[in-house]
Amino acid sequence: MSAFANLDLASMPLPVLRETFVGAGFKKFRADQLFRWLHVQMERDLDAMSDLPKRLRAAVSEALPFPKLTVVHAPVSAIDGSQKLVLACADGQVIESVVMPMAGGWTTQCLSSQVGCKMGCDFCATSRIRVRRDLTAGEIVEQVAIACRMRAAEGKVRGGVSGGVSGPLAARPQNLVFMGMGEPLDNFTALVDAISILTDAKGFGFSPRRITVSTVGLAKRVPGLIAVHPNLHLAWSLTATTDEVRDRLMPVNRGVPIRRMVEVLEALPPSHHRKITFEYALLKGVNDSDADAERLADMALAVDAHINAIPFNVWPGAPYERPSRNRVRAFADRVSRFGASISLRESKGQDIGAACGQLAGEQEGAADSAPAG
Ligand code: SF4
Repeated sequence: MSAFANLDLASMPLPVLRETFVGAGFKKFRADQLFRWLHVQMERDLDAMSDLPKRLRAAVSEALPFPKLTVVHAPVSAIDGSQKLVLACADGQVIESVVMPMAGGWTTQCLSSQVGCKMGCDFCATSRIRVRRDLTAGEIVEQVAIACRMRAAEGKVRGGVSGGVSGPLAARPQNLVFMGMGEPLDNFTALVDAISILTDAKGFGFSPRRITVSTVGLAKRVPGLIAVHPNLHLAWSLTATTDEVRDRLMPVNRGVPIRRMVEVLEALPPSHHRKITFEYALLKGVNDSDADAERLADMALAVDAHINAIPFNVWPGAPYERPSRNRVRAFADRVSRFGASISLRESKGQDIGAACGQLAGEQEGAADSAPAG
């Protein structure tokens, strides 16, 4: 039996891959070669990896297959040009990722970390799908690889940012946000490994400052993530300013109340690079009062967070409504008057079911609508 039998080589960060290769009797630089094929050339066909010796290719062929995601469809928003990638995993499960054009010609890609989500946030379409499984690190990374390949084929290469690189890597998005299907910290090891692969200078080469991990508040996992990747940006999906309301909207709050998460954020080791944002979905009559605005400003000031307020994206059967334009404006003004920094964001891709809280997967038996975050 091969030394690599049943190993998921595509999910391994480079140091782990090197150890695995050396343990199997191969030179360390061979691990670097395979890593480059997978995460720079984004090649998935072992036969195309021409500089790997035959004996090594034979051994790798005994490992688990490289992750394969198939594009089921990829609608483009007529409103803002966002593209939703509906992707089928090798086992038939369906996940979604969204590629969003941003100001200045930059691109942000929203990634999924699980098939479904068990956090049960009441305002989120993804919570209507029962959790099917965690994604592997390789499947998380493959969402980026697919976007790179598609963009490269369309000639969407940004020389200034990706200068010096060619092939699909030259078409990589500039920012990654873990705000798609699933709670990233509920799939902790795969998340950490995927970020290691994505930030490795010998692979995708993303700066950690271009990656944001969004959590509903799995407080005990936050310090562990920051210990490995200290300069990531963190987004806390907050969406309520009292435990009473948040307990109702987000069951996670019953175990990790607001104060606990604020304490964890306050205690993080300082970083000049890390930004903290509060994601706040504005729900009509639920969390959009002046008193909410004042409490939200206080919390943001306590941890030097910026607030992204997002008027609720309605999905079919949603039990909430979006506040009026005037109420949204008044809420933001009040937060500002109390000294906190706030942006009003409209989610992208609303006409293709790709906006925050709308991702629900298009697999059989899923909720009627569509991704999340
Ligand atoms: S908002 Fe995020 S954590 Fe909550 S159910 Fe949706 S995907 Fe899960």
